[in-house]
Amino acid sequence: MSIAHFRRTTAEALLADGTTVVIRPLGPEDREAVLDLHANRMSDESRRLRFFGVSRNAPRLAADRLCGEQGERLLSLGAWAGDELIGEADCEIPEDRPQTGELALVVADRWQRRGAATLLLEHLIHAARGRGVRVFEADTLAGNRGVHKVFAGLGLPVHRRLDRGEIRVRVPLDESDEHYRAAVDERGRRADVASLGALLRPGSVAVVGVSRRAGSVGRTVLAKIRQGGFPGPAMAVNPRAGSIDGEPVYPSVGALPAVPDLAVLAVPAPAVAGVAEECGRAGVRALVVLASGLGAEDSRRLVHACREHSMRLVGPNSLGIAQTDPAVRLDAEFGGAFPLPGTAGVAVQSGGVGIALLKRLAWLGIGVSSFVSLGDKYDVSGNDLLQWWEGDGRTDLALLHLESFGGPRAFARTARRVTRRLPVLTVDAGRSAAGRRGAASHTAAAATPTVVREALFRQAGITATRSIGELVDTAALLHAQPLPDPRGAVAVVSNAGGIGILAADALADAGLILPELSGELEELLPEGASARNPVDTTAAVGPAELARLLEKVELSRAVDALLVCLVPTALATDPAHDPVRALLDGPARRRIPVAAVLPDQEVPVRHLTCADGNRLPVYSDTVAAARALAHARDRARWLAEPVSEDAEAPGCDLRTARSLVAGFLTANPAGGWLDPVGTADLLESHGLPLTTSVWARDERTAVIAARAMRRLGHEGAVALKAYWPGQVHKSAAGAVRTGLRTESEVRSAYREFEESFGAELAGAVVQPMAAPGVELLAGVVQDRVFGPLVLLGMGGTATEVLDDRVARLAPLTERDLTTMVADLRGAPLLSGYPGAPAVDLPAVRSVLARLSRLAADVPELVEADLNPVIARPDGAVCVDARVRLEPRPSYDPYLRRLRRPAAAEEG
Ligand code: ADP
Ligand code: MG
Repeated sequence: MSIAHFRRTTAEALLADGTTVVIRPLGPEDREAVLDLHANRMSDESRRLRFFGVSRNAPRLAADRLCGEQGERLLSLGAWAGDELIGEADCEIPEDRPQTGELALVVADRWQRRGAATLLLEHLIHAARGRGVRVFEADTLAGNRGVHKVFAGLGLPVHRRLDRGEIRVRVPLDESDEHYRAAVDERGRRADVASLGALLRPGSVAVVGVSRRAGSVGRTVLAKIRQGGFPGPAMAVNPRAGSIDGEPVYPSVGALPAVPDLAVLAVPAPAVAGVAEECGRAGVRALVVLASGLGAEDSRRLVHACREHSMRLVGPNSLGIAQTDPAVRLDAEFGGAFPLPGTAGVAVQSGGVGIALLKRLAWLGIGVSSFVSLGDKYDVSGNDLLQWWEGDGRTDLALLHLESFGGPRAFARTARRVTRRLPVLTVDAGRSAAGRRGAASHTAAAATPTVVREALFRQAGITATRSIGELVDTAALLHAQPLPDPRGAVAVVSNAGGIGILAADALADAGLILPELSGELEELLPEGASARNPVDTTAAVGPAELARLLEKVELSRAVDALLVCLVPTALATDPAHDPVRALLDGPARRRIPVAAVLPDQEVPVRHLTCADGNRLPVYSDTVAAARALAHARDRARWLAEPVSEDAEAPGCDLRTARSLVAGFLTANPAGGWLDPVGTADLLESHGLPLTTSVWARDERTAVIAARAMRRLGHEGAVALKAYWPGQVHKSAAGAVRTGLRTESEVRSAYREFEESFGAELAGAVVQPMAAPGVELLAGVVQDRVFGPLVLLGMGGTATEVLDDRVARLAPLTERDLTTMVADLRGAPLLSGYPGAPAVDLPAVRSVLARLSRLAADVPELVEADLNPVIARPDGAVCVDARVRLEPRPSYDPYLRRLRRPAAAEEG
């Protein structure tokens, strides 16, 4: 097996108890281990169930069978914990039934009931699907409860047939089984949370690299852990042992009196890998690495040590972690003050952002449940923290600062689930090209273009803000106030007309609506006041009048949120007249969310406590308040939408598509663009509406094709498009002739092609002219990190000028289909406006759904560009398509495996 192949098929994943195991195909070098597993590490009972009776030769036969060269007919995977083979799963594909895998499964006795069998099966299912296997079959003894439990819990339908004490089990491996995916996700979540326990709820901690120097990082962290009230042992390690502050310092991790759950590595970068290995050997379960600037080899060793010894890793380049749970009280960071206990989960990639965020939250009085400075994210990422907060029973608001995404699809899936339960806010860092440059050098991770990030946030229901300020402003509202109705109608009440107008503008800019309010309010107001929206009470408003007015607006049902803008006036020097006093003397919790703007306030945002004991977010600027309200409205909309199923694309022919792709890649091992015929065949396999396109190798064929089109009832003109391999933009090269009405026009167009392109010309495509409509572009691109994205935009010849496009990560949901169309700036061109009918939107959505399906079915599809798709009231048709294929391993976004950080990949 080539090294490249080996690396592709080796995965690290978590067992149900959080142990890391390596899963990889078995080969001849594993023979001893397989023999040992079958002969020595299974009880007689397990062996009887496995081999239907105890035969002395069985283990040897198994080892021979599993560890030969892996041919086409056998798939065998082993799971390893360190050097120990803990289990094996294999399937044989009978020659006469290439869609069936005969399944067998073994887990060493002492590793049973920890999810190893299920994990092995998931990986085997993935590998088998890649080989075209559609169903697993297995013979089991009726008494083999363990195996039946594994099957039953898998999430796939299981059919059983009893035959003389044996049960024949059949498991169909349906690709699009949402039930299975949900089951895999849930197992992943549990395993992840189990593995994070040692990090976020450790019973004991060691700080490695505690120097005598006061103010050194190691010594600071140790002091903070001890002062923070951590109830377990907090031990110190330094090769020059002795004692500091009267507490012992041990010379090595191995010399500690007890094995710590968590080790904080405060050693310099070159020492990190060695210490990590020592921790692994000692049995430490989690590491936080503070150093930055690890070399490539040290990075690899660090990650390897963590995977080999089952340790979760935060960092490197981390500021540390903090857990405020009263039962843990762990302050293992050197950034700032131990955060107040509370309900906000905070994870940041940059330590500096972390310090700023914690300070500002503390200032608002928002407490923190746990804080993790992720640093370079070699292992633990935002995704892990979301899963932790989802179930920690304390967190009700998640704040993330992310510069890069390691496993964006897993993240998107987790976030989509978590955002249903609690708001997930992020600072979208690296939006600009310059920002991305900074992020790439800063975190050594792939920075991502804007459309892709937007797609991710949109699809996952994440609240994406543009600055730390906006994040804090939004958190202030979401933490203290209920969500508005999704409609997002706001009433502005101000005692200074000018501020009210600014607020109205800011709300409108943020996409909120200000309905005109009824005249009824007028009678509550002083002379000269305006009761429309914005409501201008004038400076003469008295506290009682203001209170009555607010109550009336609250109960009017005309609006879903209330923004109160107040400036102190000369009249208010009399406290009895102070409008702010009047606001605070009322309730902060009303039927609808309330925010206030006090433009003379010195800080950007704070919480004020009202008479009912609840908190009111108070901003100094109308724009900040408006943005926060808009985010709250967007979140309400997200929650109001039903959880969406994957988009349906009936009648896709996977088999034809796959054999076409296999054929092309055999002939072109490096990949490339499909020719017009191949393009048409592939798109048609998935029901994409390519217009009739006839391939003509010469002038005569082109003329006959045009004639045939007319005979078949096409009355209009035809288009003729020259083709040669490697062509890029046909129109620009003069390779498109449209509106050809007669045979002689077709003939002379072809001759002109021959003259212009000479020997390069391979032939031409003849198409009927499509009736005019709205020209769209639709397509798929593979992002290196995000996987396939489906694009929709305004297309045709003005594509670049309009630059109006939206993207979503595949697979698309039904909801994505609708929001993609709606999110285009040119959406009114599609949904109809006075004088123009709406186009056939279901036909446009169907193109998107089919592209999504094609991207999933054909991972080798690196680029598909349908431009234009001409959308009309009676349908949508594509007249130009380009498709590029490249060999790539099939990628299953639902396969459970730990991320491999780029920094730790082999060179
Ligand atoms: P390219 O994009 O490579 O320049 P196209 O095949 O997209 O070439 O042709 C350019 C433009 O010509 C299209 O955007 C469309 O406006 C028009 N066109 C091409 N083929 C047809 C057709 N069959 N029916 C109607 N219009 C067409
Ligand atoms: Mg085109």
